[in-house]
Amino acid sequence: MADDERDGVRLTSLDQPLGDGLDVTKGDLVDHLDAFSERIVPLLAGRPLTIKRVRPGSAPFMQKNVSKGAPDWVRTVTVWSEAARREVHQVLCDDRRTLLWLANQRAVEFHVPNFRVGEHEPTGLVLDLDPPEGTDFDVVVRTAHLVRQALEDAGLAGAVKTSGAKGLHVVVPVRGAPFEDVAAATRALAARTERLDPELATTAYIKEDRGGKVFVDSTRAGQSTIVAAYSPRIRRGLPVSAPVSWDSVDQARPGAVTVTTARRVLGDDDPWAAALPAPQELPADVVAEGHTI
Ligand code: ATP
Ligand code: MN
Ligand code: MN
Repeated sequence: MADDERDGVRLTSLDQPLGDGLDVTKGDLVDHLDAFSERIVPLLAGRPLTIKRVRPGSAPFMQKNVSKGAPDWVRTVTVWSEAARREVHQVLCDDRRTLLWLANQRAVEFHVPNFRVGEHEPTGLVLDLDPPEGTDFDVVVRTAHLVRQALEDAGLAGAVKTSGAKGLHVVVPVRGAPFEDVAAATRALAARTERLDPELATTAYIKEDRGGKVFVDSTRAGQSTIVAAYSPRIRRGLPVSAPVSWDSVDQARPGAVTVTTARRVLGDDDPWAAALPAPQELPADVVAEGHTI
């Protein structure tokens, strides 16, 4: 079926290749996002969305501004972008039909910040674990265990997922803390992770200073984003950012779950919602420690 209509959204060219070298059709993307819409939309709702799109014959591109000609039911929010030094009109993907409309535009990756519009506090913090070039994934897994230890020592808990690309993300739902304190706590937790095994993990922001170690990136705060759980990534076969339990993280591999296998592997389960702890208050000592970094 080349064309289709779901939830009033016209879906076109479903039998065509999604993009260059991806080995999936546009229909594969649409079917994944549709099947996971009830699990993905709550992760996107209220958050200014950045998408990464593909198109056969051109390079993938990040997009913050809503596309021209968007239906009037697509919700947007006007945000001052510090990076771009201008206003952007970003989509709020609050329902299935918006997700389908984005899918029809070949939006593959769904990136969101750690806040919802209209709320004054961030919803969580993220430790983004980036492996050095050319190493076994095992080093990222070992670093995730260190992060878990650092969290536990601070009385906190987090959930872990693959990025779908090369590394892992540890997400810690948070409440009752302003942006500066959440950013500070993230820095403190990254520094504590490094101190647990300085041979394995580093907080060195400059790549050349990382010495072949796993980078514990504590800068995913403020306006920066992280790819949502269950979002596909623009890589061959469209691997998805997949939740992994702490018990099975040793077996986790990036690319283990793709848009063509996710429905079979996960069924109707929502392991990300199940793994996310309730929002936690940040310990004052961790925040204070972070403000000195
Ligand atoms: P990997 O496992 O390869 O590191 P990743 O998604 O974690 O994949 P990072 O480069 O570590 O990629 O970036 C972390 C997050 O920062 C991304 O998920 C994305 O949301 C955001 N990000 C990174 N680069 C950009 C960019 N050029 N524009 C917008 N957001 C970006
Ligand atoms: Mn990363
Ligand atoms: Mn990173």
